[in-house]
Amino acid sequence: MPLVSGAEFLKAAREGGYGVGGFNTNNLEWTKSILAAAEAKKAPVLIQTSMGAAKYMGGYQVCYDIVKDLIDSMNITVPVALHLDHGDYEDALECIEVGYSSVMFDGSHLPFEENIEKAKDVVAKAHAKGVSVECEVGSIGGEEDGIIGSGELADIEECKQMVATGIDYLACGIGNIHGSYPENWAGLAFDHLQAIAKEVGDIPLVLHGGSGIPLDQIQKAISMGVSKINVNTEAQEVFAAATRKYIEAGKDLEGKGFDPRKLLAPGFTAITELVEQRIEWFGSTNKG
Ligand SMILES: [Zn+2]
Repeated sequence: MPLVSGAEFLKAAREGGYGVGGFNTNNLEWTKSILAAAEAKKAPVLIQTSMGAAKYMGGYQVCYDIVKDLIDSMNITVPVALHLDHGDYEDALECIEVGYSSVMFDGSHLPFEENIEKAKDVVAKAHAKGVSVECEVGSIGGEEDGIIGSGELADIEECKQMVATGIDYLACGIGNIHGSYPENWAGLAFDHLQAIAKEVGDIPLVLHGGSGIPLDQIQKAISMGVSKINVNTEAQEVFAAATRKYIEAGKDLEGKGFDPRKLLAPGFTAITELVEQRIEWFGSTNKG
């Protein structure tokens, strides 16, 4: 199956009251793990690259080729969107050209008027090629690729103006944070989520920083209009933990345990299991 834009299956998720995972990838094996989990669960999925991860992998063209070729070689039958996560204006345009089927233009650190103007331009160029667009209003706390947000609740008037640009899904702060959640985290601001959802209509909302939000809060957010949940940190954590366990058990020193195909296998099994579990949490099993 070719790559699909995110708009259609996220619209279906919004209407159906379930969520779809946006899982960040970092390399070839990571991508295989996400695709294998999505196929096993018969779930639609977004595979996401941050600007930093794409650079690490050798550029957007490499990311595109890897995802597209794995979909073919693994006989993936579920809908897959390739998405740019937190892209700046230039990179969003580059990904549209390369063949990504979904892009996030993150102008949240720009003056609001500039964020809106650039969003309009990205939407026009993306939609001309059937590519979906996510934009962000306000900033989401934590650190991602060096962009630090102070953490805030998105301004509802700004949300409305951003949705009016024609974007396909909206990222808005509702108390969520990138990276690990601190002990004293107050939880998601459901009153604010409800107020945003009431004002912006039925556009799918995006929950960034999905790693570490308890199951009950994620499912409540989904029931209130969140349709895309981003997961990154948790996959990194389970990969590292499984790899640490393998090495600490001395398995890399037994026979050919140093072979990367063996050394990295527990980590990638851990990612596959995590992605499958998150698909269950979000309710998108058998929705592909
Ligand atoms: Zn994010």
